[in-house]
Amino acid sequence: MRSLQSDIEQRGTRIFELVDKHPERLFSKAGFYQRLMALSMHDERFKTQLFRFVAVLPSLRGSSEIIQHLEEYFSDNNDGFSPLVGMGVRAARLVPWISAPVLRWNVSEMARQFIAGRNSDEVIATLRKRRAQKIGFTVDVLGEAVVSEVEADEYAAIYGDLLEKLTRETRDWTDPVGKNAELFPVVNLSVKISALYSQMNPAAPADAIAHLSTKLRPLLRRARELGAFINFDMESYALKNTTLELFKTILTEPEFKDWPHAGIVIQAYLQDSEGDLRDLIDWGLGRGTRFAVRLVKGAYWDYETTKSGQNGSTPPVFQRKPESDANFEKLTRVLFENNAVVTPAFGSHNVRSIAHAQAVADELGIDRSRFEFQLLYGMAGPIKRALVEMGYRVREYCPVGELLPGMAYLVRRLLENTSNEGFLRAKFAENVPAKELLRDPRELIKPAVAETGLSAEASAKAGDSDGISESNQKNGASLNATVGHSFRNAPLVSFIYKESQEKMQSALREVRKRLGEKYPLYIGGEKVWSDNLTPSVNPAEPTEIVGYGTEAGIDEAERAVKAARAAFEKWRWTPVEERARLLERVAEILERRRYELSAIEVFEVGKPWSEADGDIREAIDFCTFYAQQMRRLGRPKLTQQVPGEESYHHYWPRGVAFVIAPWNFPIAILCGMASAGVVTGNAVIMKPSEQSIVCGAMLMQVFEEAGVPPGVLNFLSGHGSVVGAHLVDHKDVDLIAFTGSREVGLKIWESAGITRPGQRELKRVICEMGGKNAMIVDADADLDETIMYSIYSAFGFQGQKCSALSRLILLEENYDRVMERLIPAAASLRVGNPEQPGIMVGPVIDEPAYQRILEYIESGKKEATLAYQAKEIPPRGYFIPPTIFTDVKPNMRIAREEIFGPVLSVLKVRDLDEAIAVANGTDYALTGGFFSRSPDNIERVKARLEAGNLYINRSCTGAIVGRHPFGGFKMSGSGTKAGGEDYLLNFLVPRVVIENTSRHGFAPEQSPEYRDEFLWPKPR
Ligand SMILES: Cc1cc2nc3c(=O)[nH]c(=O)nc-3n(C[C@H](O)[C@H](O)[C@H](O)COP(=O)(O)OP(=O)(O)OC[C@H]3O[C@@H](n4cnc5c(N)ncnc54)[C@H](O)[C@@H]3O)c2cc1C
Repeated sequence: MRSLQSDIEQRGTRIFELVDKHPERLFSKAGFYQRLMALSMHDERFKTQLFRFVAVLPSLRGSSEIIQHLEEYFSDNNDGFSPLVGMGVRAARLVPWISAPVLRWNVSEMARQFIAGRNSDEVIATLRKRRAQKIGFTVDVLGEAVVSEVEADEYAAIYGDLLEKLTRETRDWTDPVGKNAELFPVVNLSVKISALYSQMNPAAPADAIAHLSTKLRPLLRRARELGAFINFDMESYALKNTTLELFKTILTEPEFKDWPHAGIVIQAYLQDSEGDLRDLIDWGLGRGTRFAVRLVKGAYWDYETTKSGQNGSTPPVFQRKPESDANFEKLTRVLFENNAVVTPAFGSHNVRSIAHAQAVADELGIDRSRFEFQLLYGMAGPIKRALVEMGYRVREYCPVGELLPGMAYLVRRLLENTSNEGFLRAKFAENVPAKELLRDPRELIKPAVAETGLSAEASAKAGDSDGISESNQKNGASLNATVGHSFRNAPLVSFIYKESQEKMQSALREVRKRLGEKYPLYIGGEKVWSDNLTPSVNPAEPTEIVGYGTEAGIDEAERAVKAARAAFEKWRWTPVEERARLLERVAEILERRRYELSAIEVFEVGKPWSEADGDIREAIDFCTFYAQQMRRLGRPKLTQQVPGEESYHHYWPRGVAFVIAPWNFPIAILCGMASAGVVTGNAVIMKPSEQSIVCGAMLMQVFEEAGVPPGVLNFLSGHGSVVGAHLVDHKDVDLIAFTGSREVGLKIWESAGITRPGQRELKRVICEMGGKNAMIVDADADLDETIMYSIYSAFGFQGQKCSALSRLILLEENYDRVMERLIPAAASLRVGNPEQPGIMVGPVIDEPAYQRILEYIESGKKEATLAYQAKEIPPRGYFIPPTIFTDVKPNMRIAREEIFGPVLSVLKVRDLDEAIAVANGTDYALTGGFFSRSPDNIERVKARLEAGNLYINRSCTGAIVGRHPFGGFKMSGSGTKAGGEDYLLNFLVPRVVIENTSRHGFAPEQSPEYRDEFLWPKPR
């Protein structure tokens, strides 16, 4: 009996022979496209620039704009591959009115290679041609990101319309294979769920399923009536579980339970794909009706890898190409073995993967008419032809739509065609020999597995270096960390997983049982109670008391200062390593209590789930980052190498630090400031905001459990105007770390400047205040991203982040285009109690904030035009409807003052110069943003926009410790950067110790660059 491998080789060779009968280059269109792709494959930088240029081109209007971008993207590409482009640029400059349209035409042609038609008429013409070649079709509508429900409804209508037209036009078409035709309806539509619901949130699958089912039912119903087939395409990993759940839920409904003509996609590049497939099969067996699965490797490999690199999480995709190939083959067998309930389709251009499927089908005695091969329109034409010739069923995936919404699809195809790892490039561009291309992928994985003794999957899960590519290993690590002292951000909790969703639900239930508990002060290692209790209420349900904080008065404040002073004298001489380990233990406990603490934030400050988790993550990061930073700073450092003299620069703590934190990041900011104080050897008194006492008390519990010595960290809840003011003025307080409003910050700054009798030190003040953050949208901005990120930046956590967007500055040129999408996007937001998953806008913190924001809205109505205000908001709780004002002028109150709520002002300007002037024209300089695809304009804004944190082409909130040191200047703050490398210096006084080391002219040759800490008695 022939081995499977030799059968695969024989079949593969046969396909190659047929392919070679009609030779075709990878890039079948000669000229422009072919040359660009060839350049791209040899030069990564060129490829990046090219793909970026291609992405922006459809949105450019005038010829001069096109030429300007061409120059900006390519003029400094001096690497030997640019003559073609250089020539193009020169020619274009001379004759822009010819060159620009020619260029646009060329790129359109390039896109047309992958897009089967701009509309249903064009696509039907294409399908007719394919029919003559015995190739079937599935049609997909281009354009993946919908930002509002208006857009989602439009997509639903397009799908419905397409279904009708396709059915009408193909009424007399028959199955090209003939046999088992009932399994494969002629009309086949591929649907992307992200096009049908704009508010999809992985934490809230039930919400997504409810909305999507409403949109999908009419489509499925009609497809059933018309005898058509509907496929659920698979997109990014974040949507995978929802897509699977939706598919199973809707197709188990009585109306569709016995309908066999629906299918779904399984992506073999995902490590959990086998589990998903087996689960689907079990579901299918239980349902008792056949369904289809299109097996693919997956189109989002680069995206998933980059995204997990950014989040510090293990990528869900395999990291070695042969692992995806081998898994594809494994799942191919699973599909065939379950042929009784699944109709398989294989979506691949890889001849090895295809030949393997053919061979396994034969081995298991499955007739070739019972499955199909699916290939993309515009790719691998000769392979399609060969498969038809061999008698297999072939279906082509035909995207329909305009060039602009099709850009993401086009770039994915270009990436695939030029990928170093891809089959098509290997075969058609690099002529890799057939034998090599038909190798068993498992052979290619073996060596790496043998080295570690772990399966590749296991090592990828374990996150070790063998599972993750080298470049990804480096992600998230500090750049200048010394060996053994590296820092890595904690990953965010992924609410994609049911397990995480359930843990959060359960934490909310548990925390709810504890609502109303009382929390003590914590002074000198003792719990201290007083009769005065301050209630902290749930802003979504103000009748609900989350907990009571003990209110400190002047007596308790005095006790705390004494305790801190006493503890300081010992703590300051505690080795850095011990102090750093304390913070690491705090981080571990925060991690262990992560869901519980997030749940408390949901109740106490109204944070949506992922925002609450982000806050705990940030607290963890502060601890591990500052521990690492202190180890770095803690070693005295030689200033210069000089014979006969040693001069060491080192640091002492300042003394007693008073930490005053806000409620909007109730654990992270408090923890950041307190942990910085503690790790640097200061003794700390921390005061949480009156609105987030319970969160503060939790942090104190965590430090206590971690073993903070008595008096080193003290917890004082109470009124800012009483204990806060008292301690700011206190002669024994050496440092004040404040984050909060400008009004309070300026008072502290001023008051700390007065030297009191008996005061030892000049007080150091770290003052982080508000912002009036602006985002500028350039004429060529990617509008999908602009809308998505500006909506999130303005309305996420109800606009109560100091980094939140509050002024959107639009260039006249694209004002209408942005507004047309912005308002429906705001209108689609989910406003509600953040206890429910997937809520984006919850309540504002309390009654005074509620009243103040409403007042601003009233003032906005008088000054500017109310362009949008949400109507449906919960009847109870401090909910402010998301609100947008237009016709806002820079001098208006709503454009100058910090509102700290879900209110966005839109300002229209002539050009980028005016935009920058308007953005800079406030008292603040905290965060800023810019959306643009012009490299020159991006440089200009980078150079000139006044913001402590400037974000380009992304949201202007969500700073990450160590990666985005956070803090502003002007009236936003004193210029410190929380989570940055120089932050701890604020808590330290520098000192230099100089010693003459020569004796009678004899001196040691070298002094060490670093020495141990100056400690006495010396630890032995
Ligand atoms: C008809 C059709 C429909 C499709 N529908 C979908 C869909 O709904 N959703 C979807 O996500 N994809 C879909 N795809 C798949 C996707 O678009 C790519 O075409 C496909 O992954 C390319 O695989 P290949 O077997 O043709 O090529 P190959 O060259 O053999 O494989 C390339 C693939 O390998 C994987 N890969 C690349 N580098 C690595 C690495 N370092 N480690 C691990 N894996 C790696 C990636 O998935 C990459 O796309 C579809 C494909 C077709 C043909």
